[in-house]
Amino acid sequence: MTRTAPCPSCRKPVAKGHETFPFCCQRCRAVDLGSWLGEAYRVSEGPPPAELEEAVIQQLLEGNEDEWPSA
Ligand SMILES: [Zn+2]
Repeated sequence: MTRTAPCPSCRKPVAKGHETFPFCCQRCRAVDLGSWLGEAYRVSEGPPPAELEEAVIQQLLEGNEDEWPSA
């Protein structure tokens, strides 16, 4: 019996142990983190810079999570 949990981004069931769990895919993972970053920027410094979000998403898609762009 495979245990699953809904993807936080699109609610699609994701099997535990999946490569990108709890997200169904790298894109959903990046989208979720991108929106979280957007919230962080909104409360601290106004509108989120779209370029930074895109850069972060690109980094996530490439798997370089340790190398974040410096703001
Ligand atoms: Zn998803």
